[in-house]
Amino acid sequence: MPDHIDRANPETTADAEAAADATAGDWSGEALRAALGRAADWTVDYRKRIEERPVLPDVAPGDVRRALAKAPPCSPEPFERILADFDEHIASGLTHWNHPGFLAYFSSSTRAPSIVAELLVAAVGVNAMLWRTSPAATEVERTAVDWLRQAVGLPDTFTGLIFDTASTATFTALLAARERAGDGVRDDGLPGGPALAVYTSEQSHSSVEKSAIAAGLGRGSVRRIETDDAFRMRPDALKAAIGEDIEGGIRPAMVCATIGTTSTASVDPVAEVAAIARRHGVWLHVDAAYAGPAAMVAEQRALFRGWEAADSIVLNPHKWLGTSLDCSVLLYRDADPFRASLALTPTYLESEDDETNLMDIGLALGRRFRGLKLWVLFRCVGTDGLAETMRRHIAMAEAAAARLAEGGVFELAAPVSFSTVCFRAAREGDPAGEERWNRDILARVNAGGRSFLSHTELDGRYTVRLSVGSVHTEERHLDDALEALHRAAADLSPGEPG
Ligand code: PLP
Repeated sequence: MPDHIDRANPETTADAEAAADATAGDWSGEALRAALGRAADWTVDYRKRIEERPVLPDVAPGDVRRALAKAPPCSPEPFERILADFDEHIASGLTHWNHPGFLAYFSSSTRAPSIVAELLVAAVGVNAMLWRTSPAATEVERTAVDWLRQAVGLPDTFTGLIFDTASTATFTALLAARERAGDGVRDDGLPGGPALAVYTSEQSHSSVEKSAIAAGLGRGSVRRIETDDAFRMRPDALKAAIGEDIEGGIRPAMVCATIGTTSTASVDPVAEVAAIARRHGVWLHVDAAYAGPAAMVAEQRALFRGWEAADSIVLNPHKWLGTSLDCSVLLYRDADPFRASLALTPTYLESEDDETNLMDIGLALGRRFRGLKLWVLFRCVGTDGLAETMRRHIAMAEAAAARLAEGGVFELAAPVSFSTVCFRAAREGDPAGEERWNRDILARVNAGGRSFLSHTELDGRYTVRLSVGSVHTEERHLDDALEALHRAAADLSPGEPG
């Protein structure tokens, strides 16, 4: 474990600690400046030396908890001691998403400007529920969202706002779609109205199904539409499912297409899906939580064909753009169905101005000032810089896929899409042995501490996944991962199927 607290710093000598003890609880001007300075030092050192740490922490469930006091202190403790505990017991128990060897799930990282912006957000501590409760917070958010819209090439008929996660954004879109499709659900609830259905591919994220559960439609309302051999929604199957429901008296409420599915980053044929949705007057939501920002990369733009026909689109800057979690942008063409589904203004929240009040869209009243980090990020990096990072990630993923496919041990399990590669060590005729081998390979690589990959299931087969998305990842980190994979596959090889 690296010693991230600089013990040689005079501020951390025993004398200084004793002095700090005496002034514990004093957070007035200079004490705050000193604490921020120490936290800033820690932050810079952490990021500089993160590779000395294993990506995954060496902890068992309960280890961190046992290291923490069982009850809260009655009186203030000095910040130095708290920071030391943070370093020793907490940072060592974290999975390091900013580690360059983090290649699991949809890898993400915090770009430095976003860290600074988060500090400023905490400093001003505003709640942007109404325009007047923080005019600049609402307007910065609207501006940053509009910058994102422009950067990804969507028309200015789209506007939007920032939520915590794509799950919340998709849920909010489903409530708007439900309001449009149902008969007065807002006032009367669901039971009296028509049965509603949601259509999404069998590869779409679980948040679509969760949204249907939370919206009271039930899991059974979700039609998981078949995909083709590249894991893309089949328009003919969508058409058939909608037709069947309409014939049976069920009203289609929403179609959710995905650009960048969670397992393989596959891209549904959005233009065809949009045409079907339009024909039946069904709300089209596009889940581009992971891949959406890649529309900034000119060579990738064709993959987004048709998404401008959507009623709503979600993209997560906290996934691939490098804002810290949480920052999920929901774009929509018409705010009215959103207002119709949830806007409710009690007397104590009435305001005379005619401005957008963020509380009108979605469930939450309180709003973090999330727009600032996106606005700061755009200004500090620029759209060219952001696109270049994603282009580099895509190139690294493609190169890694080529090397995996060449070695004779691994085979690609899906076409490489954006910066995501799915593969497995293949063992024909022995599905159980193949799964065990791949599980063991993944466990061995992840235990090594230098790389962290995750898994999924495709066509019923266990599949290893690698996704490049961290601003810290360089080619040498993929070299490490590929070497570890090949070494593990050789060491653990079960030999020829018997
Ligand atoms: N949609 C897709 C395609 C995803 O891959 C994910 C998460 O990885 C989500 C939605 C959910 O994202 P969030 O964690 O922001 O809710």
